[in-house]
Amino acid sequence: MCGIIAYIGKKPAQPLLLEGLKRLEYRGYDSAGIAIINEKLQVIKSVGRVRVLEEKLAQHEDLHGTLGIAHTRWATHGEPSDSNAHPHTDDAEKGHGIALIHNGIIENYVALKTYLEERGHTFISETDTEVMTHLIGELYEGDLEAAVQAGLREVTGAYAIAVICEKEPDTLVVARKGSPLMVGVGKDEYIVASDPSAIVAHTTQAFTLDDYTVAKLTRDSFRTTTINNVPITPQVRELEFSLEQIELGTFEHYMLKEIFEQPEAMRMCLKGRIDPHDGQVVLGGISDHVRELVRARKIIFIGQGTALNAAMIGEYLMEDLARIPTEVEFASEFRYRNPIVEEGTIVIAISQSGETADTLAALQEAKNRGALALGVVNVVGSTISRETDTGVYLRMGPEIGVASTKAFIGQVMVCTMLATFIGRRRNLSRDYVAELLDELEKIPDQIEKVLALSDEIKSVAAKYIDRENWLFLGRGYNYPVALEGALKLKEISYIHAEGMPAAEMKHGPIALIDDGMPTVFVATQNSQYEKILNNIQQVKSRSGRVIAVATEGDRHIADVCDDVFYVPDVSESLQPMLTVVPLQLLAYHAAVLRGKDVDKPRNLAKSVTVE
Ligand code: GLU
Repeated sequence: MCGIIAYIGKKPAQPLLLEGLKRLEYRGYDSAGIAIINEKLQVIKSVGRVRVLEEKLAQHEDLHGTLGIAHTRWATHGEPSDSNAHPHTDDAEKGHGIALIHNGIIENYVALKTYLEERGHTFISETDTEVMTHLIGELYEGDLEAAVQAGLREVTGAYAIAVICEKEPDTLVVARKGSPLMVGVGKDEYIVASDPSAIVAHTTQAFTLDDYTVAKLTRDSFRTTTINNVPITPQVRELEFSLEQIELGTFEHYMLKEIFEQPEAMRMCLKGRIDPHDGQVVLGGISDHVRELVRARKIIFIGQGTALNAAMIGEYLMEDLARIPTEVEFASEFRYRNPIVEEGTIVIAISQSGETADTLAALQEAKNRGALALGVVNVVGSTISRETDTGVYLRMGPEIGVASTKAFIGQVMVCTMLATFIGRRRNLSRDYVAELLDELEKIPDQIEKVLALSDEIKSVAAKYIDRENWLFLGRGYNYPVALEGALKLKEISYIHAEGMPAAEMKHGPIALIDDGMPTVFVATQNSQYEKILNNIQQVKSRSGRVIAVATEGDRHIADVCDDVFYVPDVSESLQPMLTVVPLQLLAYHAAVLRGKDVDKPRNLAKSVTVE
């Protein structure tokens, strides 16, 4: 959350920064702002979307300059407003013309603010960020890099920052701890951004900053140091990211584009990793840790949001296929409740971005307590992928839609491969695995069939569009799918939805059911099919409206439900990858029909990099 972009080079900075902000807007959209140095420092900012800033910029024809920083905010301290928008500047009276943008939270900002106020500083915003800007101003003695290093030695919390100073028109200083930041290396120019989407249009050479690292960039050189000024050499690498992947193309929204990309992305995820003929899964990323994985005594999945729902499916898979006791934990809770990590514990962290702050913190806690850490992430080179001992990338391509869809399916696919990989070395027969992988290989084609239901799903969404409360129910492998269906609907259409195990409904939530309440049952053919039919009848008997996701060829279910979406028949353990698709489409169509901004849902942002 929060998009940061900064530029130093020979081109006009303003259009480049604005274009970068548009690409990063999915990370936060409470406000946006830009600062450019052209002899004098100029700062333009505005509450609201990047387009509001763009209109404001159109009135500033004098905004020339080849050095600048820009920010799109997801507020943590202080409401979205013009004054809380970044960039922030150092003290108006005693300042040096320093401007700074920040992603993260400065945890000791109250103490620092008191100290600075005693020294005569006046603050104009409610943000933690402004305090850091003033601190750097207070410490400035003619060397911006040194002032940033000194300032960062005093702060605790998380940050990715970019800083410029009117007195040093040839210097851009950036730094990070905990929040993502990447430096694109061009010819006589550097583009610094929170993620590669704002860099690839200019260069494919980039390096990621490590925690507690500061980079000083001039137009034709850079140097990186720790905050204690110890020089370090970063690894410049080629970005595996193309512009085409992040363009909207013919789709109206990124979310829809990503839902429809799922079959192709799944093929990429599977490519070269399964061999149905030999009953083998090949996961190069974990090859150095096979022994520990196979001998694991316990697995703990950690994640948040959609990744946690995928992790729950991972739990079912690990226990079912690999026969290893498994737990799923909210990363945010795991870290703070003195968890027991015994010998032989593997912690699997799931995160699309690989930057999720809660998951990262929990992962570090688990490592400190002796667990082997395995990452299941999408973004190559992200912090979680670097902090873990081993891991498997999703390879699902960039996900821009704030409501995660293709990453979820990729996370489930990777968990399936991991569980099969371990299970094959523990207890699963070659024939069993060969059959399962044969089915797995067909999943992308089967998702294509489900996507063809989009119009039908839209009509059902239209039928219930005025309903404010929904239930999503499932059993076994489809219980986390019900959670995910409810989460998607909440996130983008702001309809209240609850997901739960179908059998749990009768222990309370059944009191909510009346003819105004749609209940979505994920009721495919599996070991609990008869049970879930009973649960459907319990809802129908109370005048509830039932929408079911069922297995193709199920003739009976249409008689007991109001609407049915049919998905192809597959083994129970693989069903979530098909049953979630109608629920993604249902949420998407409901949000569009309600006139919501699907790709920029209220209060949310992609990649939650604050705790
Ligand atoms: N803490 C800063 C603010 O509220 C940055 C927020 C963020 O990175 O999400 O403005």
